[in-house]
Amino acid sequence: MKKIIDWPTTLFLIISHFIGIVGTGIYVYFNGVHPIEIFNFVLFYALTGISITAGYHRYFAHRSYECHFLLRLFYLIFGACAYENSVLRWACDHRMHHKHVDTDLDPYNIKKGGWYAHIGWIFFNRSEQRNLEHVKDLEKDPLVLWQGKYYLLIAIMVGSVLPFLIGLSVGRPWGGILWGGFFRVMFVHHTTFFINSLAHMIGRQTYTDQDSSRDSWWLAFLTYGEGYHNYHHKFQADYRNGVHWYQWDPSKWMIALGSWFNLTNRLNRTPSQKILSAKLEMEMLCLCKKVHWVPSELWERIQSHLEIVRHELESAHARWLELKSRYEKAKRSRMIQSGRVLLRWKHRLKIQERKFEVAKERWKNVLLVCGHGRLEGIRSLEI
Ligand SMILES: [Zn+2]
Ligand SMILES: [Zn+2]
Repeated sequence: MKKIIDWPTTLFLIISHFIGIVGTGIYVYFNGVHPIEIFNFVLFYALTGISITAGYHRYFAHRSYECHFLLRLFYLIFGACAYENSVLRWACDHRMHHKHVDTDLDPYNIKKGGWYAHIGWIFFNRSEQRNLEHVKDLEKDPLVLWQGKYYLLIAIMVGSVLPFLIGLSVGRPWGGILWGGFFRVMFVHHTTFFINSLAHMIGRQTYTDQDSSRDSWWLAFLTYGEGYHNYHHKFQADYRNGVHWYQWDPSKWMIALGSWFNLTNRLNRTPSQKILSAKLEMEMLCLCKKVHWVPSELWERIQSHLEIVRHELESAHARWLELKSRYEKAKRSRMIQSGRVLLRWKHRLKIQERKFEVAKERWKNVLLVCGHGRLEGIRSLEI
Protein backbone atom coordinates (compact mmCIF):
# COMPACT_ATOMS: atom_id res chain seq x y z
CA MET A 1 0.00 0.00 0.00
CA LYS A 2 1.33 3.41 -1.01
CA LYS A 3 2.15 5.66 1.93
CA ILE A 4 0.78 9.20 1.91
CA ILE A 5 2.34 11.92 4.04
CA ASP A 6 -0.05 13.36 6.60
CA TRP A 7 0.92 16.99 6.05
CA PRO A 8 -1.14 18.70 8.79
CA THR A 9 0.32 16.34 11.45
CA THR A 10 3.84 16.50 10.01
CA LEU A 11 3.81 20.31 9.93
CA PHE A 12 2.37 20.43 13.42
CA LEU A 13 5.19 18.23 14.73
CA ILE A 14 7.88 20.27 12.96
CA ILE A 15 6.45 23.61 14.12
CA SER A 16 5.77 22.47 17.69
CA HIS A 17 9.37 21.21 18.01
CA PHE A 18 10.78 24.40 16.50
CA ILE A 19 8.73 26.74 18.71
CA GLY A 20 9.15 24.43 21.72
CA ILE A 21 12.94 24.49 21.52
CA VAL A 22 13.96 27.66 19.66
CA GLY A 23 10.98 29.82 20.68
CA THR A 24 11.20 28.92 24.37
CA GLY A 25 15.00 29.32 24.28
CA ILE A 26 14.81 32.85 22.79
CA TYR A 27 12.04 33.81 25.21
CA VAL A 28 14.04 32.65 28.22
CA TYR A 29 17.16 34.41 26.92
CA PHE A 30 15.41 37.77 26.79
CA ASN A 31 12.88 37.43 29.62
CA GLY A 32 14.25 34.88 32.08
CA VAL A 33 12.00 32.36 33.80
CA HIS A 34 9.06 33.22 36.04
CA PRO A 35 7.86 30.63 38.63
CA ILE A 36 4.40 30.64 37.05
CA GLU A 37 5.96 29.30 33.83
CA ILE A 38 7.49 26.34 35.64
CA PHE A 39 4.13 25.83 37.36
CA ASN A 40 2.38 25.92 33.98
CA PHE A 41 4.79 23.37 32.54
CA VAL A 42 4.56 20.94 35.49
CA LEU A 43 0.79 21.29 35.82
CA PHE A 44 -0.02 20.66 32.16
CA TYR A 45 2.64 17.98 31.86
CA ALA A 46 1.11 16.13 34.82
CA LEU A 47 -2.53 16.55 33.74
CA THR A 48 -2.00 15.59 30.12
CA GLY A 49 0.53 12.83 30.83
CA ILE A 50 -1.67 11.06 33.35
CA SER A 51 -4.70 11.43 31.04
CA ILE A 52 -2.79 9.60 28.32
CA THR A 53 -1.48 6.77 30.53
CA ALA A 54 -4.32 6.17 33.01
CA GLY A 55 -7.02 7.41 30.64
CA TYR A 56 -6.34 6.92 26.93
CA HIS A 57 -4.19 3.84 27.51
CA ARG A 58 -5.31 1.86 30.56
CA TYR A 59 -8.96 2.87 30.58
CA PHE A 60 -10.07 3.50 26.98
CA ALA A 61 -7.69 1.25 25.07
CA HIS A 62 -7.56 -1.64 27.56
CA ARG A 63 -10.66 -1.25 29.73
CA SER A 64 -8.60 -2.44 32.68
CA TYR A 65 -10.98 -0.78 35.15
CA GLU A 66 -14.27 1.09 35.26
CA CYS A 67 -14.47 4.77 35.52
CA HIS A 68 -16.86 7.52 36.77
CA PHE A 69 -18.34 9.93 34.22
CA LEU A 70 -16.39 12.88 35.69
CA LEU A 71 -13.06 11.09 35.48
CA ARG A 72 -13.79 10.02 31.90
CA LEU A 73 -14.52 13.64 31.05
CA PHE A 74 -11.25 14.71 32.70
CA TYR A 75 -9.28 12.11 30.71
CA LEU A 76 -10.93 13.15 27.46
CA ILE A 77 -10.33 16.87 27.94
CA PHE A 78 -6.71 16.66 29.13
CA GLY A 79 -5.92 13.70 26.89
CA ALA A 80 -6.91 15.89 23.91
CA CYS A 81 -4.49 18.58 25.22
CA ALA A 82 -1.59 16.16 24.67
CA TYR A 83 -2.19 16.62 20.91
CA GLU A 84 -1.97 12.87 20.28
CA ASN A 85 -5.23 12.53 18.35
CA SER A 86 -8.77 11.73 19.51
CA VAL A 87 -9.13 8.84 21.90
CA LEU A 88 -10.98 6.78 19.28
CA ARG A 89 -8.06 6.87 16.84
CA TRP A 90 -5.44 6.58 19.58
CA ALA A 91 -7.08 3.51 21.12
CA CYS A 92 -7.64 1.96 17.68
CA ASP A 93 -3.94 2.28 16.80
CA HIS A 94 -2.97 0.94 20.21
CA ARG A 95 -5.27 -2.08 20.07
CA MET A 96 -3.85 -2.86 16.63
CA HIS A 97 -0.36 -2.59 18.12
CA HIS A 98 -1.16 -5.24 20.75
CA LYS A 99 -3.01 -7.51 18.38
CA HIS A 100 -0.42 -7.42 15.60
CA VAL A 101 2.72 -6.52 17.55
CA ASP A 102 5.98 -6.64 15.54
CA THR A 103 4.20 -7.23 12.23
CA ASP A 104 3.26 -4.97 9.31
CA LEU A 105 -0.19 -4.42 10.79
CA ASP A 106 1.37 -2.98 13.95
CA PRO A 107 1.17 0.83 13.46
CA TYR A 108 4.44 1.38 15.32
CA ASN A 109 6.20 -1.80 14.32
CA ILE A 110 9.66 -1.80 15.94
CA LYS A 111 10.94 -4.10 13.20
CA LYS A 112 10.89 -1.04 10.93
CA GLY A 113 13.44 0.63 13.22
CA GLY A 114 13.53 2.76 16.35
CA TRP A 115 12.99 6.05 14.54
CA TYR A 116 9.94 4.72 12.69
CA ALA A 117 8.38 3.30 15.88
CA HIS A 118 9.17 6.48 17.80
CA ILE A 119 7.86 9.18 15.50
CA GLY A 120 8.27 8.17 11.84
CA TRP A 121 4.94 6.34 11.65
CA ILE A 122 3.03 9.51 12.62
CA PHE A 123 4.15 11.32 9.46
CA PHE A 124 2.00 9.01 7.34
CA ASN A 125 -1.74 9.11 6.89
CA ARG A 126 -3.26 6.04 8.55
CA SER A 127 -6.95 6.54 7.82
CA GLU A 128 -6.97 3.56 5.39
CA GLN A 129 -5.11 1.14 7.66
CA ARG A 130 -6.96 2.16 10.81
CA ASN A 131 -9.66 -0.44 11.28
CA LEU A 132 -12.34 1.08 13.51
CA GLU A 133 -13.81 -2.39 14.05
CA HIS A 134 -11.29 -2.58 16.89
CA VAL A 135 -13.02 0.21 18.81
CA LYS A 136 -16.70 -0.65 18.32
CA ASP A 137 -17.23 -0.55 22.10
CA LEU A 138 -15.80 2.98 22.37
CA GLU A 139 -18.04 4.24 19.58
CA LYS A 140 -21.02 3.57 21.84
CA ASP A 141 -19.79 6.12 24.38
CA PRO A 142 -21.33 9.57 23.65
CA LEU A 143 -18.48 11.28 25.53
CA VAL A 144 -15.92 9.63 23.26
CA LEU A 145 -17.86 10.76 20.18
CA TRP A 146 -18.13 14.27 21.58
CA GLN A 147 -14.36 14.38 22.13
CA GLY A 148 -13.74 13.07 18.61
CA LYS A 149 -15.90 15.85 17.16
CA TYR A 150 -14.36 18.72 19.13
CA TYR A 151 -10.89 17.24 19.68
CA LEU A 152 -8.91 20.09 18.13
CA LEU A 153 -11.04 22.81 19.71
CA ILE A 154 -10.62 21.24 23.19
CA ALA A 155 -6.88 20.83 22.62
CA ILE A 156 -6.42 24.46 21.56
CA MET A 157 -8.69 26.01 24.19
CA VAL A 158 -7.54 23.98 27.20
CA GLY A 159 -4.07 22.90 26.11
CA SER A 160 -2.85 26.21 24.66
CA VAL A 161 -5.21 29.14 25.43
CA LEU A 162 -5.49 28.24 29.13
CA PRO A 163 -1.71 28.27 29.79
CA PHE A 164 -1.60 31.52 27.78
CA LEU A 165 -4.21 33.03 30.15
CA ILE A 166 -2.38 31.74 33.24
CA GLY A 167 0.75 33.47 31.93
CA LEU A 168 -1.29 36.60 31.19
CA SER A 169 -2.33 36.74 34.86
CA VAL A 170 1.27 37.75 35.70
CA GLY A 171 1.77 39.77 32.53
CA ARG A 172 3.72 37.00 30.69
CA PRO A 173 1.21 35.42 28.25
CA TRP A 174 3.86 34.22 25.76
CA GLY A 175 5.82 32.57 28.52
CA GLY A 176 2.58 30.84 29.52
CA ILE A 177 1.89 29.36 26.09
CA LEU A 178 5.54 28.48 25.44
CA TRP A 179 6.12 26.61 28.72
CA GLY A 180 2.60 25.21 29.32
CA GLY A 181 1.89 24.72 25.60
CA PHE A 182 4.66 24.08 23.06
CA PHE A 183 7.54 23.00 25.32
CA ARG A 184 5.25 20.79 27.43
CA VAL A 185 3.61 19.17 24.36
CA MET A 186 7.05 18.23 23.09
CA PHE A 187 7.86 16.51 26.38
CA VAL A 188 4.54 14.65 26.58
CA HIS A 189 4.95 13.54 22.96
CA HIS A 190 8.41 12.09 23.39
CA THR A 191 7.66 10.34 26.67
CA THR A 192 4.66 8.65 25.02
CA PHE A 193 6.71 7.87 21.92
CA PHE A 194 9.44 6.27 24.05
CA ILE A 195 6.97 3.50 24.89
CA ASN A 196 6.61 2.66 21.23
CA SER A 197 10.35 2.81 20.58
CA LEU A 198 12.64 2.34 23.62
CA ALA A 199 10.22 0.05 25.50
CA HIS A 200 10.53 -2.34 22.54
CA MET A 201 14.32 -2.05 22.36
CA ILE A 202 15.95 -1.69 25.78
CA GLY A 203 15.35 -3.57 29.02
CA ARG A 204 14.50 -7.02 30.34
CA GLN A 205 12.02 -9.51 29.04
CA THR A 206 10.75 -10.47 32.48
CA TYR A 207 7.47 -12.17 31.59
CA THR A 208 7.49 -13.06 27.91
CA ASP A 209 9.77 -13.33 24.89
CA GLN A 210 6.91 -13.76 22.46
CA ASP A 211 7.23 -10.13 21.33
CA SER A 212 9.81 -7.34 21.45
CA SER A 213 8.44 -5.56 24.56
CA ARG A 214 10.83 -4.81 27.43
CA ASP A 215 10.67 -3.78 31.10
CA SER A 216 12.71 -0.80 32.16
CA TRP A 217 12.51 1.00 35.53
CA TRP A 218 14.12 4.22 34.34
CA LEU A 219 11.67 4.52 31.47
CA ALA A 220 8.87 4.02 34.00
CA PHE A 221 10.12 7.16 35.79
CA LEU A 222 9.68 9.22 32.65
CA THR A 223 6.36 7.74 31.62
CA TYR A 224 4.11 7.49 34.68
CA GLY A 225 4.89 3.79 35.06
CA GLU A 226 4.50 2.72 31.44
CA GLY A 227 8.12 1.53 31.25
CA TYR A 228 7.16 -1.91 32.56
CA HIS A 229 6.07 -2.69 29.05
CA ASN A 230 6.94 -6.39 28.96
CA TYR A 231 4.56 -7.00 31.86
CA HIS A 232 1.96 -4.89 30.08
CA HIS A 233 2.23 -6.88 26.84
CA LYS A 234 1.91 -10.15 28.71
CA PHE A 235 -0.97 -9.03 30.95
CA GLN A 236 -2.54 -6.15 29.08
CA ALA A 237 -5.88 -6.30 30.92
CA ASP A 238 -4.14 -5.47 34.22
CA TYR A 239 -4.58 -1.86 35.38
CA ARG A 240 -1.00 -1.96 36.72
CA ASN A 241 2.16 -1.90 34.62
CA GLY A 242 4.59 -1.90 37.53
CA VAL A 243 3.05 -4.85 39.31
CA HIS A 244 5.16 -4.79 42.48
CA TRP A 245 4.35 -2.22 45.15
CA TYR A 246 7.86 -0.73 44.91
CA GLN A 247 7.78 -0.28 41.14
CA TRP A 248 7.28 3.32 40.06
CA ASP A 249 3.81 3.54 38.52
CA PRO A 250 1.93 6.76 39.37
CA SER A 251 -0.88 5.78 36.97
CA LYS A 252 -1.64 2.64 38.97
CA TRP A 253 -1.49 4.64 42.24
CA MET A 254 -3.87 7.23 40.84
CA ILE A 255 -6.31 4.58 39.61
CA ALA A 256 -6.18 2.80 43.01
CA LEU A 257 -6.64 6.11 44.85
CA GLY A 258 -9.64 6.87 42.65
CA SER A 259 -11.30 3.68 43.87
CA TRP A 260 -11.36 5.11 47.44
CA PHE A 261 -13.58 7.93 46.14
CA ASN A 262 -15.67 5.76 43.81
CA LEU A 263 -14.15 7.43 40.76
CA THR A 264 -12.75 4.08 39.61
CA ASN A 265 -13.88 0.54 40.32
CA ARG A 266 -13.54 -3.10 39.18
CA LEU A 267 -9.77 -2.74 38.95
CA ASN A 268 -8.49 -5.71 37.00
CA ARG A 269 -5.52 -7.53 38.58
CA THR A 270 -3.83 -10.58 37.08
CA PRO A 271 -3.76 -13.40 39.67
CA SER A 272 -0.31 -13.47 41.23
CA GLN A 273 0.11 -17.22 40.54
CA LYS A 274 -0.06 -16.45 36.83
CA ILE A 275 2.48 -13.65 37.17
CA LEU A 276 4.90 -15.83 39.13
CA SER A 277 4.49 -18.67 36.68
CA ALA A 278 5.29 -16.43 33.68
CA LYS A 279 8.35 -15.03 35.47
CA LEU A 280 9.71 -18.47 36.38
CA GLU A 281 9.13 -19.68 32.84
CA MET A 282 11.21 -16.80 31.50
CA GLU A 283 13.97 -17.38 34.07
CA MET A 284 14.14 -21.02 32.99
CA LEU A 285 14.34 -20.01 29.35
CA CYS A 286 17.17 -17.58 30.11
CA LEU A 287 19.06 -20.30 31.91
CA CYS A 288 18.55 -22.71 29.00
CA LYS A 289 20.26 -20.21 26.71
CA LYS A 290 23.20 -19.85 29.15
CA VAL A 291 23.92 -23.53 29.77
CA HIS A 292 23.00 -25.15 26.46
CA TRP A 293 26.59 -26.41 26.21
CA VAL A 294 26.55 -28.77 29.25
CA PRO A 295 26.55 -32.53 28.54
CA SER A 296 23.04 -33.66 27.60
CA GLU A 297 22.84 -36.19 30.44
CA LEU A 298 23.60 -33.44 32.97
CA TRP A 299 21.27 -31.03 31.23
CA GLU A 300 18.36 -33.44 31.63
CA ARG A 301 19.12 -33.70 35.35
CA ILE A 302 19.29 -29.89 35.65
CA GLN A 303 15.93 -29.58 33.92
CA SER A 304 14.18 -32.10 36.13
CA HIS A 305 15.75 -30.50 39.23
CA LEU A 306 14.53 -27.08 38.11
CA GLU A 307 11.02 -28.46 37.59
CA ILE A 308 11.00 -29.82 41.15
CA VAL A 309 12.25 -26.58 42.73
CA ARG A 310 9.84 -24.58 40.61
CA HIS A 311 6.92 -26.76 41.63
CA GLU A 312 7.88 -26.36 45.31
CA LEU A 313 8.04 -22.60 44.90
CA GLU A 314 4.69 -22.35 43.12
CA SER A 315 3.00 -24.58 45.71
CA ALA A 316 4.46 -22.57 48.62
CA HIS A 317 3.25 -19.39 46.96
CA ALA A 318 -0.26 -20.74 46.34
CA ARG A 319 -0.52 -21.98 49.94
CA TRP A 320 0.70 -18.62 51.27
CA LEU A 321 -1.90 -16.76 49.17
CA GLU A 322 -4.62 -19.06 50.39
CA LEU A 323 -3.69 -18.57 54.04
CA LYS A 324 -3.39 -14.84 53.53
CA SER A 325 -6.90 -14.56 52.13
CA ARG A 326 -8.27 -16.73 54.96
CA TYR A 327 -6.48 -14.59 57.52
CA GLU A 328 -7.86 -11.39 55.96
CA LYS A 329 -11.35 -12.89 55.97
CA ALA A 330 -10.97 -13.91 59.62
CA LYS A 331 -9.85 -10.38 60.48
CA ARG A 332 -12.92 -8.90 58.85
CA SER A 333 -15.33 -11.47 60.24
CA ARG A 334 -17.42 -10.40 63.22
CA MET A 335 -18.00 -14.07 64.00
CA ILE A 336 -14.55 -14.37 65.47
CA GLN A 337 -14.72 -13.14 69.01
CA SER A 338 -11.42 -14.39 70.27
CA GLY A 339 -8.19 -12.63 69.48
CA ARG A 340 -6.48 -15.98 70.10
CA VAL A 341 -8.03 -17.47 66.93
CA LEU A 342 -6.74 -14.56 64.95
CA LEU A 343 -3.29 -14.94 66.48
CA ARG A 344 -3.24 -18.60 65.50
CA TRP A 345 -4.06 -17.64 61.90
CA LYS A 346 -1.35 -15.02 61.95
CA HIS A 347 1.16 -17.53 63.21
CA ARG A 348 0.29 -20.04 60.45
CA LEU A 349 0.58 -17.30 57.89
CA LYS A 350 4.03 -16.33 59.17
CA ILE A 351 5.24 -19.95 58.95
CA GLN A 352 3.96 -20.25 55.40
CA GLU A 353 5.53 -16.94 54.46
CA ARG A 354 8.86 -18.26 55.68
CA LYS A 355 8.43 -21.46 53.63
CA PHE A 356 7.73 -19.33 50.56
CA GLU A 357 10.87 -17.25 51.22
CA VAL A 358 12.97 -20.43 51.58
CA ALA A 359 11.55 -21.81 48.30
CA LYS A 360 12.41 -18.52 46.58
CA GLU A 361 15.96 -18.63 47.90
CA ARG A 362 16.35 -22.19 46.69
CA TRP A 363 15.15 -21.27 43.22
CA LYS A 364 17.49 -18.28 43.06
CA ASN A 365 20.39 -20.43 44.21
CA VAL A 366 19.79 -23.06 41.51
CA LEU A 367 19.60 -20.34 38.85
CA LEU A 368 22.75 -18.72 40.15
CA VAL A 369 24.82 -21.87 40.36
CA CYS A 370 23.68 -23.21 36.98
CA GLY A 371 23.97 -19.72 35.45
CA HIS A 372 27.66 -19.56 36.36
CA GLY A 373 28.08 -22.59 34.16
CA ARG A 374 30.76 -24.33 36.27
CA LEU A 375 30.31 -28.08 36.15
CA GLU A 376 31.62 -28.60 39.69
CA GLY A 377 29.06 -26.09 40.97
CA ILE A 378 26.19 -27.70 39.10
CA ARG A 379 27.20 -31.17 40.34
CA SER A 380 27.34 -29.83 43.93
CA LEU A 381 23.59 -29.17 43.75
CA GLU A 382 23.06 -32.92 44.24
CA ILE A 383 20.76 -33.19 41.32
ZN1 LIG B 1 -1.26 -1.16 25.90
ZN1 LIG C 1 4.11 -2.12 22.97
